[in-house]
Amino acid sequence: MSGTDVKLLLRSTRVVTPGGTRPAAVAVTGGTIDAVLPHDTGTPPGARVEDFGDDVLLPGLVDTHVHVNDPGRTEWEGFHTATRAAAAGGITTLLDMPLNSLPPTTTVEHLRVKQRVAEPKVHVDTGFWGGAIPTNVKDLRPLYEAGVFGFKCFLSPSGVEEFPELDQEQLARSMAEIAGFGGLLIVHAEDPHHLASAPQHGGPAYADFLASRPRDAENTAIEGLIAHAERLNARVHVLHLSSSDALPLIAAARRRGVRLTVETCPHFLTLTAEEVPDGATEFKCCPPIREAANQDALWQGLADGTIDCIVSDHSPCTTDLKTPDFASAWGGISSLQLGLPAIWTEARRRGHTLDDVARWMSAAPAALAGLHHKGAIEAGRDADFAVLAPDATFTVDPAELFHRNQVTAYAGRTLHGVVRSTWLRGVRIAADGVLAGPTGRLRTRDNRA
Ligand SMILES: [Zn+2]
Repeated sequence: MSGTDVKLLLRSTRVVTPGGTRPAAVAVTGGTIDAVLPHDTGTPPGARVEDFGDDVLLPGLVDTHVHVNDPGRTEWEGFHTATRAAAAGGITTLLDMPLNSLPPTTTVEHLRVKQRVAEPKVHVDTGFWGGAIPTNVKDLRPLYEAGVFGFKCFLSPSGVEEFPELDQEQLARSMAEIAGFGGLLIVHAEDPHHLASAPQHGGPAYADFLASRPRDAENTAIEGLIAHAERLNARVHVLHLSSSDALPLIAAARRRGVRLTVETCPHFLTLTAEEVPDGATEFKCCPPIREAANQDALWQGLADGTIDCIVSDHSPCTTDLKTPDFASAWGGISSLQLGLPAIWTEARRRGHTLDDVARWMSAAPAALAGLHHKGAIEAGRDADFAVLAPDATFTVDPAELFHRNQVTAYAGRTLHGVVRSTWLRGVRIAADGVLAGPTGRLRTRDNRA
């Protein structure tokens, strides 16, 4: 399809740009934004015009936290299904987590396997995080040179044996190695000792599960990370922050100049512990969904800039692994297609704007990963867009979701914000739930591919 060569003019009365939302016409050539022009700009000769009326033109979302699990656990998810769900949900770039696939992305050879598997299947631009495990310090630099965006590690068991956690000494060694070549370490921050000493009752009661993953486990792990990052002048990112008690620690560290960034997830911002039914393990994730007051504090952390971004942590599994016992059920929430409406529904209720949502879900994750061609509607960036009808509502029907196992914690919820279409480098890849072919590209750090 030669669609990327056609000159396009995209008009909307509400274009979300880094300088605010305004009526505009966005000129696109060859898949790149040429200019953001006045709304009443005349149509250039030969150009195709799309007029979205009052629907909002957002920058395509960038989701830097997705478990695709392909190859190896493709019955859980895969590049075809995950990237279709992403496209339908307004996401134009995703980064795959290094674990749950077989092999995990812990060597260059493993990265090559993943890239070969992914390339023909991706509907959105796709890149890879590497993994830092106890035995692969020597592989980190070659992986970085091969184009991974940074490295993920765990401090407590990951749930799969091929991806072991780092102890404090191993963490320091990996962090020093990564800092030595200017890389980024992203961390699942729960302290194993606090988890081990928490009550482990198991069973279907959500309150018991919540007690088994206490806030202190997160707070302590983050405190330790800050200490290492400060000593090594390393760049560190806290994954899926749930405990709002850690926000003052994080804010203080950032004021001291520690190179620390933080993400949280739609489920922590839109679902609460109080409302999880017993046995409903589609709500299980680690760290866990906490109480309503915790959620209020996380929104405050977003509002004051302590939390940088919102990403899905889409982590599916087959339905049989979601047993009604919170201790043994697989942990992970599937939300790739629903993140934007879930967040928008809650954000608007709390007085936030779509400019805020675009910053948290597009600009900030793009900046985190160094995806400088993504994340904003401005000249020179990729022409990636989500067209959103912000006042339209829909009720989540799992059967309409594109991810492989149609389980989601959002089933039956009525959400605001319908994604009308999604555009990748100037080509419409999804419209009203109908997907075009897989035209995504594999991305590497610095766009070397
Ligand atoms: Zn995750």
